[in-house]
Amino acid sequence: MKSSGRLRSWRRLAAVSEYRSDYTSSWCPGCGDYGVLKSIDMAFHELGLRNENIVVISGIGCNGRFPHNFKAYGFHTLHGRVLPIAQGISLAKPELSIVGIAGDGDAFAIGGGHVPHAARRNPDMAFIVLDNGIYGQTKGQPSPTTPLGYRTKVTPEGSHEDPIDISQLALAYGVSFLARGFPGKPNHLAHLIAQGITHRGFALIHVLNPCPTFHDTWKELAPKVTEIGPEYDPTDQEAAWKLVKGQEKIPIGIIYKQARSTLVERVKASTAASRRMELRELVESFR
Ligand code: SF4
Ligand code: MG
Repeated sequence: MKSSGRLRSWRRLAAVSEYRSDYTSSWCPGCGDYGVLKSIDMAFHELGLRNENIVVISGIGCNGRFPHNFKAYGFHTLHGRVLPIAQGISLAKPELSIVGIAGDGDAFAIGGGHVPHAARRNPDMAFIVLDNGIYGQTKGQPSPTTPLGYRTKVTPEGSHEDPIDISQLALAYGVSFLARGFPGKPNHLAHLIAQGITHRGFALIHVLNPCPTFHDTWKELAPKVTEIGPEYDPTDQEAAWKLVKGQEKIPIGIIYKQARSTLVERVKASTAASRRMELRELVESFR
């Protein structure tokens, strides 16, 4: 990556705090990841979390570097495998605040099979999906959310595939919390992330995240994103569907939330209710 005054000023945007390590990100100047990093830091402050009670997990892609930026537990795992790791941590260490971070390709292509199952298990975690509509780290290949017809170096005639809509899919999969945010509004995004962390269950935060190098959506998104007003009821699923379906403006805020038992609560309840089977009895049951 280039070393320039502009780049250094983007790096300074991610202000030093007790949650931040001295790691220097190599994201391009203007990348939405800087705003998301700032928002996660602000969310930790808002909640007053202790460093040793946080774990940040990432997959592969430009945003795979997120865990390195925090003084907290971290796991930079395999491509598309944020959710299996996070669900394991959720079962083993339910007292931790778990923040998973993945790109649109990581979460909804190679890792796409994990999302509906995480939604139905409802592990207590925040899953931040940075949707820039491109594979940035591999220099601009089309991803599951690249718009039809968008030209990249590997699709010079334009993408031939319809994009998926992450908010719509998340709602269809039955996540118990869905929010949508924009790094151009970092305070608003920070508050969404904080609410996703405190939500009891699987909270998916869909971030409309510009990649100025390969899919620059800053100018397109900035006039379109509109904060959802206080009159909106996020417990109304029908209203949530209306909100995520084709509008001129793009509403950002908490789209849907539902109270239901988490994975750990269900496991604990069933373990308490059933007696432990002796090993010999278990072996006999398979004869
Ligand atoms: Fe950000 Fe795009 Fe650069 Fe990756 S390629 S660091 S997503 S601007
Ligand atoms: Mg991407």
